[in-house]
Amino acid sequence: PVDLAGRIANLLGARNAPSVVHAVAGVDLDITAGEVIGVVGESGCGKSTLGRVIAGISPPTAGEVSYQGKPLHGMTSAEHKAYVLGVQMIFQNPMASLNPRMRVLDIIGEAPVVHGLVPASGKADYVAGLMRQVGLDPDYGQRYPHQFSGGQRQRIGIARALALKPQLIVCDEAVAALDVSIQAQVLNLFLELRRALGLTYLFISHNLGVVGHVSDRVVIMYLGRVVEVAPTQTIFSRPNHPYTQALLSELPSLDTQRRDYQPIKGELPSPLRPPTGCAFHPRCPHAMPRCSVERPALRTLASGHTSACHLNDLAPSVPE
Ligand code: SF4
Ligand code: MG
Repeated sequence: PVDLAGRIANLLGARNAPSVVHAVAGVDLDITAGEVIGVVGESGCGKSTLGRVIAGISPPTAGEVSYQGKPLHGMTSAEHKAYVLGVQMIFQNPMASLNPRMRVLDIIGEAPVVHGLVPASGKADYVAGLMRQVGLDPDYGQRYPHQFSGGQRQRIGIARALALKPQLIVCDEAVAALDVSIQAQVLNLFLELRRALGLTYLFISHNLGVVGHVSDRVVIMYLGRVVEVAPTQTIFSRPNHPYTQALLSELPSLDTQRRDYQPIKGELPSPLRPPTGCAFHPRCPHAMPRCSVERPALRTLASGHTSACHLNDLAPSVPE
């Protein structure tokens, strides 16, 4: 339901490929191979929709997705298959996404056999290797999902995704349903797999703390629009957008420097009828008259750092 018009994602294109920019800009995202991108926002901000579009589960309302330099709509069937296998999604609730009547061996091993990645005769060994890789005892392949803990079930979901030899994994709140101690274990597994397999991740979460732990770069979304993109360190040390600052003020481990950021006030407005101008204006402590009438464009503040806030027009420009 969110207005994601103009969303464009360029997945795993060449490192210096011209970035596809869409000025109407809902989302404009270049994901480079090997990168971990965090997407953060309150629920209803459009981040799950963005993930589903990137994973090919939902169609984009506008704009287009490119994979390895090719727009999806112009792909040959071989290219499209490479995209379908190459981008996998992991969801919040592993129980809902695992068939309760299937053994783990089949949950993990069925798709790679169907897609011809492994012969049926090699399935058991292939699955055993994947189970080891995600920290599960391969002897448990004969068991059913309900015989595992929540953290183990998420590992099954990860093994199922890895079975298709993906390049990019979209994790939508992949640890949100787990206990905090288990969350850390699963996050560390993601990081280990990235090192071992050269994976690229899009990590969607409402929790800036979680995303900060794993991401190289963070995209902050508010009501279907990207409001700030920056390297993770910059988001934490020099956040520009008042919404980003509000999210930071809510993190439990604040250092003194951040205590003067204003926490977020009020309810998230309906994404169906977002406020005019800057959609954040009813909640923004710095709102000015123009904020309710004029939508701020994403503006580059520094290399790799963009933000959409009218306050940046007031800042004196730095002489060359
Ligand atoms: Fe606040 Fe205005 Fe900036 Fe929006 S554009 S974040 S309302 S100051
Ligand atoms: Mg969601």
